[in-house]
Amino acid sequence: MSNLSGKQGLIVGVANKRSISWAIAQAADRAGARLALTYVNERLEGNVRKLAETLTQPPVVLACDVTQDQQIDEVAAGLDREIGGLDFLVHGVAFAPREAITQPFLQTTRGDFQVALDISAYSFVALARAVAPLMARRGGGSLLTLTYLGSERVFPNYNVMGVAKAALEASVRYLASELGPQQIRVNAISAGPIKTLASAGISGFSDILSIYRDRAPLRRNIDAGEVADAALFLLSNAGRAVTGEVLLADAGYHAMGL
Ligand code: NAD
Repeated sequence: MSNLSGKQGLIVGVANKRSISWAIAQAADRAGARLALTYVNERLEGNVRKLAETLTQPPVVLACDVTQDQQIDEVAAGLDREIGGLDFLVHGVAFAPREAITQPFLQTTRGDFQVALDISAYSFVALARAVAPLMARRGGGSLLTLTYLGSERVFPNYNVMGVAKAALEASVRYLASELGPQQIRVNAISAGPIKTLASAGISGFSDILSIYRDRAPLRRNIDAGEVADAALFLLSNAGRAVTGEVLLADAGYHAMGL
């Protein structure tokens, strides 16, 4: 088990108990980390605060809609005030307007393309910039985002989200290059399909689940706890030589040709 005792982390992307970010928060809490969690809006604030109460170390809970630069700045200021420095960030945020994942990709509007790329890819860059000084103060850190194989291959109805994930994975490499000299590592986990609020929006998602189950080398789907275990490796000192990497946690599905 990777150890995070003495480490402080910010987790952005908890909506409910099914969120992959929540599984990572629970695992990081068990591994000894002190956490800060964010909620996107007032509708989800209650959920996040209730979940936060179940952690062993009471977390700082802050508002953060990643489309708002001011809220990102306030998160960094809040962390500076409340905990003084940061060792890791988990970014588990993605969104595409409904039409963009129901209509053919060819019909993606300029506005929907911008929204999907802004929330799902640019937000990682903006958060990285905001928290890097808090990490540099601790002698380095680990930034982690969540991605999907739809960045490289076509999955029906994933559409603009696939383009956003390609941008996100390229951002991982550019950020890793620029932040490496400050000993800040930047990685992504590309997870296999898991039933969550976000994936419920992809029509035909249950077919994707069953195809993975049939064809992945491990012949099963994965759960959020398994993504969390991979995350602990990248967030902890166990992953200290790894940066600029996209780690596939998908029961091996990506390795198959058919
Ligand atoms: P989820 O719906 O629980 O998490 C998505 C989060 O994004 C939610 O917490 C939501 O509040 C947040 N979000 C959306 N717009 C936001 C905004 N403007 N500001 C701040 N937060 C915002 O679903 P999830 O499946 O846990 O998704 C987490 C990440 O994992 C996403 O990046 C997703 O693409 C990725 N992922 C999911 C799967 C899967 O099958 N579930 C597979 C691979 C990768």
